[in-house]
Amino acid sequence: MTPLPDYHMHTPRCNHAEGRVADYARAAITAGLSEIGISDHSPMPTPFDDDWRMRHDELDGYVAEVMAAQIEFADTLTIRLGLEVDWRPGCEAFVHELAAAYPWDYLIGSVHYLDSWAFDDPDQRQHWDEVGIEQVYIDYYAQVAASAASGLFDTLGHPDLAKKFGHRPSASEMPRIIEAEEAMLMAVQRAGVALEISAAGLRKPVAEIYPHPRIIERAAARSIPFSYGSDAHQPQHVGHAQPACRNLLLQCGIHQISHFTQRQRTLHPLQK
Ligand code: ZN
Ligand code: FE
Ligand code: FE
Ligand code: ZN
Repeated sequence: MTPLPDYHMHTPRCNHAEGRVADYARAAITAGLSEIGISDHSPMPTPFDDDWRMRHDELDGYVAEVMAAQIEFADTLTIRLGLEVDWRPGCEAFVHELAAAYPWDYLIGSVHYLDSWAFDDPDQRQHWDEVGIEQVYIDYYAQVAASAASGLFDTLGHPDLAKKFGHRPSASEMPRIIEAEEAMLMAVQRAGVALEISAAGLRKPVAEIYPHPRIIERAAARSIPFSYGSDAHQPQHVGHAQPACRNLLLQCGIHQISHFTQRQRTLHPLQK
């Protein structure tokens, strides 16, 4: 069984991950992977929650560390150069410039903010009660749709992150939530961007893979491609729950997985 490339992992530059690129590479080899991509949290225009990302002046060192590991592990592991970029309206020009400044293999676009609220930050959880679950989900999917439409990204990270803490819409709220999901999927299909299946949710209170099987099935009906990511913030999580993610994709009608090189996507068959 060919392993899936794991395109989502972090380095200590974001201030909440541990392990150097070489440590992630060794962990990947131990886990039986043949391809990974490093995707640390990108710098953003300041001020922008600067504690959660690398500084702009750390980019050169980040890219150099990934490139050095590409050479060091050339015989055993393919290592791609990626970045997890926050989506926030108004930052398009900044991201556009960032995209042109280095030879990225792919950019992950992730929604972690609704305006300036980091809705997935445990320290800002109390704000959920003020906005209300239904509205958070609707606002969240609108931003994922906007991130797709921006055309700035190759894949969209953990695309139902709003469920992270286990906040669930009620049955009567579901029709509007599904409508918002559908609008998001239409935008993703139109933009030709991929969605990420992420094991990270299994390590969070929700204890589920991102995104929900319902979303994967609807994406499959629209021929939207998927990439896989562990979102490892420690080397031991590289390749996390890969068999479960593979099986879920297959069950939901996805039969190929995305590989990225120099911002080009190729699709490879997903075997059982
Ligand atoms: Zn992170
Ligand atoms: Fe993220
Ligand atoms: Fe991440
Ligand atoms: Zn992430």
